[in-house]
Amino acid sequence: MAARIIDGKKVAEEIRTEIRAGTSALASKGIVPGLAVIIVGEDPASISYVTGKERACSENGLRSFEHRLPDSVSQAELLATIRACNVDPDVHGVLVQLPLPEHINEHAVMAAIDPDKDVDGFTPVNVGRLVLDHPCYLPCTPAGVVELIKRSGVETSGRRAVIVGRSNIVGKPLMNLLVRRDLNATVTVCHTGTRDLASHTREADILIACAGRAGLIDGTMIKSGACVIDVGVNRVEDHRSARGFRLVGDVDYASALEVSGWITPVPGGVGPMTITMLLANTLRAARAVCGEA
Ligand code: NAP
Repeated sequence: MAARIIDGKKVAEEIRTEIRAGTSALASKGIVPGLAVIIVGEDPASISYVTGKERACSENGLRSFEHRLPDSVSQAELLATIRACNVDPDVHGVLVQLPLPEHINEHAVMAAIDPDKDVDGFTPVNVGRLVLDHPCYLPCTPAGVVELIKRSGVETSGRRAVIVGRSNIVGKPLMNLLVRRDLNATVTVCHTGTRDLASHTREADILIACAGRAGLIDGTMIKSGACVIDVGVNRVEDHRSARGFRLVGDVDYASALEVSGWITPVPGGVGPMTITMLLANTLRAARAVCGEA
């Protein structure tokens, strides 16, 4: 069976078209959704992520406000920057780019973000809302995964979903999302303590790999016709590439393609969805301010 390839770029562009319609409707009321992006230090990967987020804002009718702080910033100064964004009426969403330097307490930083501006969905209040099934901002990568599944027409209700990975930013929020009544899946979460990983993955109607291990899942571990969502992004050495490496997922794509019913490629699957969901959350935050949510 040839798998249907889920084109994340195409789905992300569909959603961005909806977002541009939303931002232009708000613009006619004089409101521009604003995203404050706080970045600490000079980590090249973080700078590149932040640049991508800012570009996506400007291309889709949102405004971004960058706060670049030195590596040596104190926790008090960082918290003061967050508080200033919390009360700035032009800012509807606040994002702190991770990772942070070791001397900063990440939990205290996340907790300082106003939950109603927490468009990354990482504050303890939003995590609690997600678990309790209350309206909340969904973390962007898990929300992107769910959009890919829904917009591909894959049934989740009554199906078995297996998630490989239990991080706070991907695996656990996905577990909480998929088990909600609207998606109604039966969910298993695997991790490094799981015995016989393949015995679980072979049961999955929907298999989500978010372990960060290149080639962890191959075709022999996938049920025929399953929907396979590969969140992993891993660098593997590749001397033919000018960069000396290429990006691959957690799933061995060639063997998985033979057996699965749907599959996301890496790159071009989940990746393009993450920033798109950040834009969607920021638009929603701006709408809430003008009583539209
Ligand atoms: P993480 O914090 O390192 O968590 C990885 C999880 O996978 C952990 O729960 C770990 O188990 C589990 N795991 C690792 N090796 C395993 C194995 N051999 N068998 C079973 N479980 C295993 O990573 P993350 O931040 O969630 O990210 C996961 C991957 O997604 C990474 O490749 C990351 O680059 C990618 N990612 C992509 C996007 C995107 O936009 N496309 C966004 C975020 C992350 P333990 O808990 O037992 O250690």
